[in-house]
Amino acid sequence: MAELTDARRVMGRCDILGAISEELGCLTRRFATPAMGEANRVVASWMRDAGMAVRQDSIGNVIGRYEARSPRAKTLLLGSHLDTVRDAGKYDGPLGVLVALALVERLYARGERLPFALEVVAFADEEGLRYHTAYLGSQALAGAFDHADLSLEDGDGIMMSQAIREFGGDPEAIAGEQRRPDETLAYCEVHIEQGPVLERHDLPVGVVSVIMGQSRFNVEFVGEAGHAGTVPMAMRHDALCAAAEFVLAVEELARADAGLVATVGQLTVGPGASNVIPGRAALSLDVRCLDDAVREKTLETLHKKAIEIGARRGVAVEWRQVQASTTIACAPKLNAMLSRAIEALGYEAIGLPSGAGHDAVALSALAPVAMLFVRCKGGVSHNPAESVTSEDVAVALDALDLFVNDFAVEQGAMA
Ligand SMILES: [Zn+2]
Repeated sequence: MAELTDARRVMGRCDILGAISEELGCLTRRFATPAMGEANRVVASWMRDAGMAVRQDSIGNVIGRYEARSPRAKTLLLGSHLDTVRDAGKYDGPLGVLVALALVERLYARGERLPFALEVVAFADEEGLRYHTAYLGSQALAGAFDHADLSLEDGDGIMMSQAIREFGGDPEAIAGEQRRPDETLAYCEVHIEQGPVLERHDLPVGVVSVIMGQSRFNVEFVGEAGHAGTVPMAMRHDALCAAAEFVLAVEELARADAGLVATVGQLTVGPGASNVIPGRAALSLDVRCLDDAVREKTLETLHKKAIEIGARRGVAVEWRQVQASTTIACAPKLNAMLSRAIEALGYEAIGLPSGAGHDAVALSALAPVAMLFVRCKGGVSHNPAESVTSEDVAVALDALDLFVNDFAVEQGAMA
């Protein structure tokens, strides 16, 4: 039975952060908002109390550094994100930050220093709710931040560069946040599973084997608006009917391949009146697959299908990629260390793929990455019903503790 005191403190802190929101009655914390600033300040104060040197970097990540035994040591990165989706649960993101922080608290209480520095990073933007981006915070550390993003506007017309400045950041300095690969040992993230696999296996934690590649597109069907009463059916170029046919084609194609998931999650129709034939229908397309070649082939097939539907209906199709990432593998050596830690705690260590994207995707360009998933009730996430238990969090914390210890023994032997 794991010691629950530390896990209960983590849970209590998830509750505290879960109450810091832009909206009354639900949890929404977008990048560089006042709610985000408050969450950053609270986390920063906990980090300081754990003996860490803390700063908010130029994009808005909070970084707590627990120095190594000796100067000029390399750094092991831990962490997750503090931003949320709209009407979110309390654990997606914050749990990983707070478990990492709890580990540093243990080291600090024991007066223990490691052969490397530990940095706990609370990333400022992973979900991309405000600017429809992804991984802004981790991209800055990986040196992959796209400066063209600075001129994106949010729903209120506020440019990203302005939002960053108002948040106390510095858009000009983001390039300087890039870490050196030769000084960064690895990145390890604890995160809720967001799926049902661990629950099905009755296991508290599991090791992420790979993170699925994903593509996001904006697809727009442009037909001809007209009077719902006077234009005969055979003469219409109804953009929504074309979009509807496409949505079902997306589902049909994805259902035919067990390794593939595809989703249309947004659909807007214009002009949008009950007595007007839709002239425009814009939709989002999200396609994910472990096999990058299958994902690419699927997108090619769907693009052709959209054009074929459009041609048949006299509707034009605009096809624009918003985001793409390839499948990334977590480092086998780190995964073996995580598995040993889980087994040492008396549990079977299983590997599972992640269908959700994570900061580890961006950081894989910088250093080897690993992720530890924590069972969540019903596999539910991106929802206020998101739920984890103190018992499972205790196992995750103990596993991370053993992992870092193992890592320290190895690094110490190499020094
Ligand atoms: Zn997350």
